[in-house]
Amino acid sequence: MGKARVAVNGYGTIGKRVADAIARQPDMQLVGVAKTRPDYVARRAVDRGYPLYVAGSGTPEKFAAAGIAVAGRLAELLAKADVVIDASPEDVGRENRPLYEKAGVRAIYQGGEEPEVAEASFSALANFEAGRGKRSLRVVSCNTTGITRAVSVVLPRWGVEHWEVTLVRRAADPAETKRGPINGILPALDMPSHHGPDARTVVPGLSITTVALVVPTTLMHVHVNHVRLARPPKDSGELLAAFRATPRFHVFAPWEGVEGTPQAMEFARDRAGAGAPADLMENVLWERGLRVEGRDVHFFQAIHQESIVVPENVDAVRAVLGISDGPTSIATTDRALGIGAAPRSVDRSPGRGSAPSGVREPPGRPTRRPRTIK
Ligand code: NAD
Repeated sequence: MGKARVAVNGYGTIGKRVADAIARQPDMQLVGVAKTRPDYVARRAVDRGYPLYVAGSGTPEKFAAAGIAVAGRLAELLAKADVVIDASPEDVGRENRPLYEKAGVRAIYQGGEEPEVAEASFSALANFEAGRGKRSLRVVSCNTTGITRAVSVVLPRWGVEHWEVTLVRRAADPAETKRGPINGILPALDMPSHHGPDARTVVPGLSITTVALVVPTTLMHVHVNHVRLARPPKDSGELLAAFRATPRFHVFAPWEGVEGTPQAMEFARDRAGAGAPADLMENVLWERGLRVEGRDVHFFQAIHQESIVVPENVDAVRAVLGISDGPTSIATTDRALGIGAAPRSVDRSPGRGSAPSGVREPPGRPTRRPRTIK
Protein backbone atom coordinates (compact mmCIF):
# COMPACT_ATOMS: atom_id res chain seq x y z
CA MET A 1 0.00 0.00 0.00
CA GLY A 2 0.98 3.66 -0.32
CA LYS A 3 1.37 5.84 2.72
CA ALA A 4 -1.09 5.17 5.53
CA ARG A 5 -3.62 8.01 5.63
CA VAL A 6 -4.08 9.12 9.23
CA ALA A 7 -6.56 11.60 10.75
CA VAL A 8 -6.33 13.01 14.28
CA ASN A 9 -9.59 13.95 16.00
CA GLY A 10 -9.05 16.07 19.11
CA TYR A 11 -6.14 18.48 18.90
CA GLY A 12 -5.09 19.23 22.47
CA THR A 13 -2.11 18.13 24.58
CA ILE A 14 -1.91 14.63 23.10
CA GLY A 15 -3.53 15.24 19.70
CA LYS A 16 -1.18 18.02 18.60
CA ARG A 17 1.89 15.96 19.50
CA VAL A 18 0.52 12.85 17.81
CA ALA A 19 -0.26 14.87 14.66
CA ASP A 20 3.32 16.21 14.57
CA ALA A 21 4.65 12.68 15.03
CA ILE A 22 2.48 11.25 12.23
CA ALA A 23 3.60 14.05 9.91
CA ARG A 24 7.24 12.99 10.47
CA GLN A 25 6.76 9.29 9.62
CA PRO A 26 8.13 8.13 6.26
CA ASP A 27 5.21 5.73 5.67
CA MET A 28 2.30 7.92 6.83
CA GLN A 29 0.38 10.93 5.61
CA LEU A 30 -1.44 13.22 8.04
CA VAL A 31 -4.66 13.88 6.10
CA GLY A 32 -5.94 16.36 8.65
CA VAL A 33 -6.77 17.20 12.23
CA ALA A 34 -10.15 18.02 13.76
CA LYS A 35 -10.87 20.48 16.50
CA THR A 36 -13.99 21.82 18.18
CA ARG A 37 -12.88 25.38 18.89
CA PRO A 38 -10.90 28.08 17.07
CA ASP A 39 -8.11 29.01 19.49
CA TYR A 40 -4.33 29.39 19.49
CA VAL A 41 -3.92 25.64 19.11
CA ALA A 42 -6.14 25.66 16.00
CA ARG A 43 -3.92 28.43 14.65
CA ARG A 44 -0.90 26.18 15.27
CA ALA A 45 -2.43 23.47 13.05
CA VAL A 46 -2.97 25.93 10.21
CA ASP A 47 0.54 27.38 10.63
CA ARG A 48 1.97 23.86 10.24
CA GLY A 49 -0.01 23.28 7.08
CA TYR A 50 -2.29 20.63 8.56
CA PRO A 51 -5.76 20.57 6.95
CA LEU A 52 -8.10 21.57 9.79
CA TYR A 53 -11.63 20.18 10.17
CA VAL A 54 -14.43 21.02 12.57
CA ALA A 55 -15.30 18.36 15.17
CA GLY A 56 -17.97 17.81 17.80
CA SER A 57 -20.14 20.78 18.66
CA GLY A 58 -17.90 23.21 16.75
CA THR A 59 -19.17 25.19 13.75
CA PRO A 60 -17.34 26.39 10.63
CA GLU A 61 -18.86 29.84 11.27
CA LYS A 62 -17.00 30.18 14.60
CA PHE A 63 -13.72 29.29 12.91
CA ALA A 64 -14.48 31.73 10.05
CA ALA A 65 -15.21 34.49 12.58
CA ALA A 66 -11.76 33.90 14.10
CA GLY A 67 -10.18 34.07 10.66
CA ILE A 68 -9.17 30.40 10.68
CA ALA A 69 -9.78 28.53 7.44
CA VAL A 70 -11.24 25.03 7.75
CA ALA A 71 -11.32 22.28 5.15
CA GLY A 72 -14.68 20.84 6.22
CA ARG A 73 -16.30 18.78 8.95
CA LEU A 74 -15.07 15.64 10.68
CA ALA A 75 -17.09 13.30 8.44
CA GLU A 76 -15.23 14.67 5.40
CA LEU A 77 -11.90 14.10 7.13
CA LEU A 78 -12.83 10.52 8.06
CA ALA A 79 -13.71 9.83 4.42
CA LYS A 80 -10.08 10.56 3.50
CA ALA A 81 -8.50 8.39 6.23
CA ASP A 82 -7.51 4.75 6.72
CA VAL A 83 -7.10 5.27 10.47
CA VAL A 84 -8.33 7.91 12.91
CA ILE A 85 -6.54 8.64 16.15
CA ASP A 86 -9.03 9.92 18.70
CA ALA A 87 -7.37 12.31 21.13
CA SER A 88 -10.52 13.94 22.44
CA PRO A 89 -11.03 14.36 26.21
CA GLU A 90 -11.61 11.40 28.54
CA ASP A 91 -14.84 9.50 27.71
CA VAL A 92 -15.51 11.57 24.57
CA GLY A 93 -13.73 8.93 22.48
CA ARG A 94 -16.50 6.49 23.41
CA GLU A 95 -19.07 9.00 22.13
CA ASN A 96 -17.10 9.44 18.89
CA ARG A 97 -16.86 5.71 18.22
CA PRO A 98 -20.14 5.43 16.20
CA LEU A 99 -18.80 8.13 13.84
CA TYR A 100 -15.70 6.05 13.12
CA GLU A 101 -17.69 2.86 12.70
CA LYS A 102 -20.06 4.61 10.29
CA ALA A 103 -17.11 5.91 8.26
CA GLY A 104 -15.52 2.44 8.21
CA VAL A 105 -12.13 3.67 9.50
CA ARG A 106 -9.89 1.89 11.93
CA ALA A 107 -9.71 3.76 15.23
CA ILE A 108 -7.13 4.32 17.95
CA TYR A 109 -8.32 5.63 21.31
CA GLN A 110 -6.47 7.02 24.34
CA GLY A 111 -6.08 5.82 27.91
CA GLY A 112 -8.81 8.11 29.27
CA GLU A 113 -11.32 5.70 27.75
CA GLU A 114 -12.45 2.46 29.35
CA PRO A 115 -10.74 -0.64 27.89
CA GLU A 116 -14.03 -1.76 26.29
CA VAL A 117 -13.90 1.14 23.83
CA ALA A 118 -11.55 -0.88 21.60
CA GLU A 119 -10.82 -4.47 20.67
CA ALA A 120 -7.55 -4.46 22.63
CA SER A 121 -5.35 -2.26 24.81
CA PHE A 122 -1.92 -1.49 23.39
CA SER A 123 1.61 -0.69 24.51
CA ALA A 124 4.12 -1.20 21.69
CA LEU A 125 7.02 -2.82 23.56
CA ALA A 126 4.74 -5.07 25.58
CA ASN A 127 2.08 -6.33 23.15
CA PHE A 128 2.48 -5.04 19.59
CA GLU A 129 1.47 -8.41 18.16
CA ALA A 130 -1.85 -8.38 20.05
CA GLY A 131 -2.75 -5.21 18.17
CA ARG A 132 -1.93 -6.47 14.69
CA GLY A 133 -4.88 -6.41 12.35
CA LYS A 134 -7.38 -5.21 14.98
CA ARG A 135 -9.93 -2.63 13.82
CA SER A 136 -9.56 -0.60 17.01
CA LEU A 137 -6.97 -0.22 19.75
CA ARG A 138 -6.70 1.76 22.94
CA VAL A 139 -3.25 3.14 23.72
CA VAL A 140 -3.07 2.86 27.50
CA SER A 141 -2.54 5.93 29.68
CA CYS A 142 0.80 7.62 30.27
CA ASN A 143 1.34 5.85 33.59
CA THR A 144 0.26 2.45 32.30
CA THR A 145 2.48 2.89 29.25
CA GLY A 146 5.42 3.59 31.57
CA ILE A 147 4.65 0.55 33.71
CA THR A 148 4.08 -1.88 30.82
CA ARG A 149 7.25 -0.76 29.05
CA ALA A 150 9.24 -1.54 32.20
CA VAL A 151 7.45 -4.87 32.57
CA SER A 152 8.40 -5.74 28.98
CA VAL A 153 12.08 -5.42 29.94
CA VAL A 154 11.97 -7.27 33.25
CA LEU A 155 9.39 -10.04 32.81
CA PRO A 156 11.00 -12.06 29.97
CA ARG A 157 14.49 -11.91 31.55
CA TRP A 158 13.94 -12.57 35.24
CA GLY A 159 10.22 -13.30 35.65
CA VAL A 160 7.99 -11.31 37.99
CA GLU A 161 6.59 -12.74 41.20
CA HIS A 162 4.97 -9.43 42.17
CA TRP A 163 5.27 -5.79 41.07
CA GLU A 164 4.38 -2.88 43.36
CA VAL A 165 4.27 0.72 42.17
CA THR A 166 3.63 3.91 44.07
CA LEU A 167 2.73 6.53 41.49
CA VAL A 168 3.56 10.13 42.33
CA ARG A 169 1.37 11.89 39.82
CA ARG A 170 1.61 15.41 38.45
CA ALA A 171 -1.38 17.57 39.36
CA ALA A 172 -1.92 19.14 35.92
CA ASP A 173 -0.34 19.56 32.52
CA PRO A 174 1.57 22.86 32.14
CA ALA A 175 -1.21 24.53 30.11
CA GLU A 176 -4.01 23.45 32.45
CA THR A 177 -5.20 26.16 34.82
CA LYS A 178 -8.23 24.51 36.35
CA ARG A 179 -6.63 21.46 37.99
CA GLY A 180 -4.72 21.08 41.21
CA PRO A 181 -3.73 20.91 43.94
CA ILE A 182 -1.31 23.82 43.87
CA ASN A 183 -0.46 23.15 47.50
CA GLY A 184 -0.88 19.81 49.20
CA ILE A 185 -0.53 16.10 48.53
CA LEU A 186 -3.64 14.12 47.65
CA PRO A 187 -3.50 10.36 48.21
CA ALA A 188 -5.86 8.36 45.99
CA LEU A 189 -7.66 6.68 48.85
CA ASP A 190 -9.25 3.94 46.80
CA MET A 191 -6.65 1.19 46.66
CA PRO A 192 -5.38 -0.26 44.46
CA SER A 193 -5.38 2.56 41.92
CA HIS A 194 -6.74 1.72 38.47
CA HIS A 195 -3.23 1.49 36.96
CA GLY A 196 -2.58 -2.10 38.07
CA PRO A 197 -5.76 -3.55 36.51
CA ASP A 198 -5.07 -1.38 33.46
CA ALA A 199 -1.57 -2.86 33.11
CA ARG A 200 -3.19 -6.31 33.08
CA THR A 201 -5.19 -5.33 29.97
CA VAL A 202 -1.78 -5.33 28.24
CA VAL A 203 0.06 -8.02 30.23
CA PRO A 204 -2.65 -10.48 31.31
CA GLY A 205 -2.01 -12.26 34.58
CA LEU A 206 0.67 -9.82 35.80
CA SER A 207 0.74 -9.74 39.59
CA ILE A 208 0.79 -6.01 40.29
CA THR A 209 -0.44 -3.61 42.96
CA THR A 210 -0.50 0.14 42.42
CA VAL A 211 -1.22 3.05 44.72
CA ALA A 212 -1.16 6.70 43.69
CA LEU A 213 -0.93 10.22 45.06
CA VAL A 214 -1.10 13.60 43.35
CA VAL A 215 1.47 16.30 44.01
CA PRO A 216 1.70 19.96 42.91
CA THR A 217 3.89 19.69 39.83
CA THR A 218 3.26 19.84 36.08
CA LEU A 219 6.45 18.33 34.70
CA MET A 220 6.30 14.53 35.02
CA HIS A 221 5.03 11.59 37.04
CA VAL A 222 7.48 9.55 39.13
CA HIS A 223 7.00 5.84 39.85
CA VAL A 224 8.54 4.15 42.87
CA ASN A 225 8.84 0.49 41.88
CA HIS A 226 9.45 -2.57 44.03
CA VAL A 227 9.63 -5.79 42.02
CA ARG A 228 10.03 -9.27 43.48
CA LEU A 229 11.62 -11.22 40.66
CA ALA A 230 11.25 -14.95 40.02
CA ARG A 231 15.02 -15.32 39.39
CA PRO A 232 17.72 -13.04 40.84
CA PRO A 233 19.81 -10.97 38.45
CA LYS A 234 23.59 -11.04 38.82
CA ASP A 235 23.66 -7.42 39.95
CA SER A 236 22.12 -4.01 39.29
CA GLY A 237 24.41 -3.61 36.27
CA GLU A 238 22.60 -6.47 34.53
CA LEU A 239 19.26 -4.71 34.94
CA LEU A 240 20.64 -1.33 33.90
CA ALA A 241 22.19 -2.88 30.81
CA ALA A 242 18.81 -4.36 29.87
CA PHE A 243 17.05 -1.00 30.27
CA ARG A 244 19.81 0.78 28.33
CA ALA A 245 19.60 -1.73 25.50
CA THR A 246 15.83 -1.26 25.12
CA PRO A 247 14.39 1.51 22.96
CA ARG A 248 12.32 4.15 24.77
CA PHE A 249 14.37 4.05 27.96
CA HIS A 250 16.79 6.72 29.01
CA VAL A 251 19.06 6.02 31.98
CA PHE A 252 20.86 8.99 33.53
CA ALA A 253 24.36 8.35 34.86
CA PRO A 254 25.42 9.95 38.17
CA TRP A 255 27.87 12.38 36.51
CA GLU A 256 25.05 13.98 34.51
CA GLY A 257 23.72 15.73 37.61
CA VAL A 258 20.07 15.00 36.87
CA GLU A 259 18.56 15.08 40.33
CA GLY A 260 14.92 14.82 39.31
CA THR A 261 12.23 15.84 36.87
CA PRO A 262 13.32 19.51 36.40
CA GLN A 263 16.69 18.57 34.91
CA ALA A 264 15.18 15.65 32.99
CA MET A 265 12.82 18.04 31.20
CA GLU A 266 15.60 20.58 30.73
CA PHE A 267 17.63 17.79 29.08
CA ALA A 268 14.68 17.21 26.71
CA ARG A 269 14.43 20.90 25.84
CA ASP A 270 18.16 21.09 25.19
CA ARG A 271 17.97 18.00 23.00
CA ALA A 272 15.20 19.40 20.84
CA GLY A 273 16.28 20.68 17.48
CA ALA A 274 14.40 22.84 15.03
CA GLY A 275 11.20 20.93 14.32
CA ALA A 276 11.99 18.19 16.87
CA PRO A 277 9.81 18.15 19.97
CA ALA A 278 11.00 19.40 23.37
CA ASP A 279 9.48 16.29 24.87
CA LEU A 280 10.76 13.22 26.68
CA MET A 281 9.08 10.17 25.19
CA GLU A 282 11.35 7.66 26.94
CA ASN A 283 10.92 6.15 30.42
CA VAL A 284 13.52 7.96 32.50
CA LEU A 285 15.60 5.96 34.98
CA TRP A 286 18.55 6.83 37.14
CA GLU A 287 21.58 4.57 37.47
CA ARG A 288 21.84 5.48 41.17
CA GLY A 289 18.08 5.04 41.56
CA LEU A 290 18.10 1.28 41.01
CA ARG A 291 18.97 -1.21 43.74
CA VAL A 292 19.03 -5.00 43.72
CA GLU A 293 18.90 -7.19 46.83
CA GLY A 294 18.59 -10.84 45.86
CA ARG A 295 15.29 -11.14 44.01
CA ASP A 296 14.08 -7.68 45.10
CA VAL A 297 14.58 -4.71 42.82
CA HIS A 298 13.77 -1.12 43.71
CA PHE A 299 13.89 1.60 41.09
CA PHE A 300 12.50 5.01 40.25
CA GLN A 301 11.26 5.98 36.84
CA ALA A 302 9.88 9.30 35.59
CA ILE A 303 7.22 9.63 32.91
CA HIS A 304 6.58 12.72 30.78
CA GLN A 305 2.81 12.51 30.70
CA GLU A 306 2.35 14.85 27.74
CA SER A 307 4.45 12.82 25.31
CA ILE A 308 5.14 9.23 26.38
CA VAL A 309 2.09 7.87 24.53
CA VAL A 310 2.99 9.66 21.27
CA PRO A 311 5.25 6.95 19.79
CA GLU A 312 2.76 4.31 20.94
CA ASN A 313 0.02 5.97 18.87
CA VAL A 314 2.28 5.92 15.81
CA ASP A 315 3.02 2.21 16.31
CA ALA A 316 -0.69 1.53 16.86
CA VAL A 317 -1.36 2.84 13.33
CA ARG A 318 1.05 0.27 11.86
CA ALA A 319 -0.41 -2.43 14.10
CA VAL A 320 -4.05 -1.92 13.06
CA LEU A 321 -3.06 -1.74 9.40
CA GLY A 322 -0.82 -4.81 9.76
CA ILE A 323 1.97 -3.09 7.82
CA SER A 324 4.88 -3.78 10.15
CA ASP A 325 6.17 -6.01 12.90
CA GLY A 326 6.78 -4.48 16.32
CA PRO A 327 10.57 -4.01 16.35
CA THR A 328 10.58 -2.50 12.84
CA SER A 329 7.74 -0.13 13.69
CA ILE A 330 9.36 0.96 16.95
CA ALA A 331 12.68 1.60 15.20
CA THR A 332 11.01 3.57 12.39
CA THR A 333 8.98 5.67 14.81
CA ASP A 334 11.94 6.40 17.06
CA ARG A 335 14.23 7.35 14.18
CA ALA A 336 11.62 9.76 12.82
CA LEU A 337 11.09 11.36 16.23
CA GLY A 338 14.70 11.49 17.38
CA ILE A 339 13.87 9.30 20.38
CA GLY A 340 17.03 8.12 22.07
CA ALA A 341 19.14 10.90 20.61
CA ALA A 342 21.69 12.53 22.90
CA PRO A 343 21.70 16.36 22.96
CA ARG A 344 24.97 16.67 21.10
CA SER A 345 24.11 14.12 18.43
CA VAL A 346 20.52 14.95 17.48
CA ASP A 347 19.99 15.05 13.74
CA ARG A 348 17.49 17.77 12.99
CA SER A 349 16.20 16.56 9.66
CA PRO A 350 12.76 14.92 9.81
CA GLY A 351 12.86 11.13 9.89
CA ARG A 352 16.52 11.02 10.95
CA GLY A 353 16.90 10.73 14.69
CA SER A 354 20.10 9.16 15.94
CA ALA A 355 20.59 5.92 17.82
CA PRO A 356 20.74 5.73 21.62
CA SER A 357 24.09 7.05 22.66
CA GLY A 358 24.69 5.04 25.84
CA VAL A 359 26.60 8.09 27.08
CA ARG A 360 29.03 7.25 29.86
CA GLU A 361 31.04 9.46 32.14
CA PRO A 362 33.73 11.20 30.13
CA PRO A 363 37.24 10.40 31.36
CA GLY A 364 38.56 12.80 33.97
CA ARG A 365 35.19 14.36 34.73
CA PRO A 366 34.44 14.47 38.47
CA THR A 367 31.28 12.72 39.60
CA ARG A 368 28.93 15.22 41.19
CA ARG A 369 28.51 14.73 44.89
CA PRO A 370 24.96 13.54 45.56
CA ARG A 371 22.79 15.93 47.53
CA THR A 372 21.14 14.67 50.69
CA ILE A 373 17.36 14.97 50.57
CA LYS A 374 16.03 15.88 54.00
P1 NAD B 1 -6.93 17.97 26.01
O1 NAD B 1 -8.10 18.52 26.77
O2 NAD B 1 -5.62 18.64 26.12
O3 NAD B 1 -7.29 17.86 24.47
C1 NAD B 1 -8.52 17.34 24.01
C2 NAD B 1 -8.93 18.10 22.75
O4 NAD B 1 -10.13 17.52 22.22
C3 NAD B 1 -9.23 19.57 23.01
O5 NAD B 1 -8.65 20.34 21.98
C4 NAD B 1 -10.76 19.63 22.93
O6 NAD B 1 -11.22 20.90 22.48
C5 NAD B 1 -11.04 18.57 21.89
N1 NAD B 1 -12.41 18.06 21.91
C6 NAD B 1 -13.39 18.25 22.83
N2 NAD B 1 -14.52 17.59 22.45
C7 NAD B 1 -14.24 16.98 21.28
C8 NAD B 1 -15.00 16.16 20.40
N3 NAD B 1 -16.29 15.84 20.63
N4 NAD B 1 -14.41 15.71 19.26
C9 NAD B 1 -13.12 16.01 19.01
N5 NAD B 1 -12.36 16.79 19.81
C10 NAD B 1 -12.91 17.26 20.93
O7 NAD B 1 -6.83 16.44 26.47
P2 NAD B 1 -5.53 15.54 26.43
O8 NAD B 1 -4.75 15.76 27.68
O9 NAD B 1 -4.86 15.69 25.14
O10 NAD B 1 -6.17 14.10 26.58
C11 NAD B 1 -6.72 13.41 25.46
C12 NAD B 1 -6.81 11.93 25.80
O11 NAD B 1 -5.49 11.44 26.04
C13 NAD B 1 -7.61 11.59 27.04
O12 NAD B 1 -8.21 10.32 26.88
C14 NAD B 1 -6.55 11.50 28.13
O13 NAD B 1 -6.95 10.72 29.22
C15 NAD B 1 -5.42 10.87 27.34
N6 NAD B 1 -4.07 11.10 27.88
C16 NAD B 1 -3.73 12.32 28.39
C17 NAD B 1 -2.45 12.51 28.92
C18 NAD B 1 -2.02 13.82 29.52
O14 NAD B 1 -1.23 13.82 30.43
N7 NAD B 1 -2.50 14.95 29.07
C19 NAD B 1 -1.52 11.47 28.89
C20 NAD B 1 -1.88 10.24 28.31
C21 NAD B 1 -3.18 10.07 27.83
